[in-house]
Amino acid sequence: MLDKRKTQYSNKTPKTLLNKGTGFLSGYTHSLNPYTGCSFACSYCYVRQMPVSIFRNEEWGTWVDIKKGAEDVFRKELLRAKAKGPVTIFMSSSTDPYQPVEHKKGITRSLLEIMTHDKPDFLFVQTRSPLVCRDIDLLAKLGNQVRVSVTVETDREDIRKYFSPYAPPIPARLKALRMLAEAGVPTQATIAPLLPSSEHFPAMLRPLVNKVCLDDYYMGDGSGGRRTQKMGIPALYTKLGLEEWATPSAYQIVYERLKKCFSEEEIFISQKGFEP
Ligand code: SF4
Repeated sequence: MLDKRKTQYSNKTPKTLLNKGTGFLSGYTHSLNPYTGCSFACSYCYVRQMPVSIFRNEEWGTWVDIKKGAEDVFRKELLRAKAKGPVTIFMSSSTDPYQPVEHKKGITRSLLEIMTHDKPDFLFVQTRSPLVCRDIDLLAKLGNQVRVSVTVETDREDIRKYFSPYAPPIPARLKALRMLAEAGVPTQATIAPLLPSSEHFPAMLRPLVNKVCLDDYYMGDGSGGRRTQKMGIPALYTKLGLEEWATPSAYQIVYERLKKCFSEEEIFISQKGFEP
């Protein structure tokens, strides 16, 4: 288990699983969150500034609600949605569907099982956890109607530990990308939000993926960087003496490096990299 600190777990029975795709996810008909809350507790997580976190009197990253009975609710909702037209699902927008507790609870797996029988037109799985590899058998059944996006904000473990000490290590995520690719599951590496990384980062990704998404706080936090500013994230860079990586032009450092290993058609910036 990657859960290295105490997380408060509660069982909640959801009324609904599928939500309308809006804003950054307007390219999707629906978003799907198998859990509420997230024990990875990334310092920069913009969900900290959203109602789901603000109206809860507990610090973001210390609690997770397990959606009990999600399977039955989702099965009906998916059928209803499919009867109305094409269904494109983004999983997940305000949690990671592969929480450490997913290992035991299997909520995400149960939803995937339903989707292998009643396939959505497209499913985008956004995670930073190697636990996604447990479900390769189901993901493979979705063929080209799925893409797994693994967040790899940097290749530097010291930086990952500084900004998101409770999230899975980078080498485990790279290994997950390799395993998914070997199984023929469509994948992408998502450098979001980009953190300070080394010159060699793109060369590490090159053998693993044909698609890279690059995003930063200014394009990707849903508020032009204001939420990130409010959370005091730039000060974390100052402490490291890495202020240049917290600017709106920092993404160009990584973009120029990526271009040495990937074609421009393989590099997607911000929202484009998350589209179906
Ligand atoms: S994994 Fe995603 S949802 Fe969870 S804390 Fe990190 S950024 Fe937020």
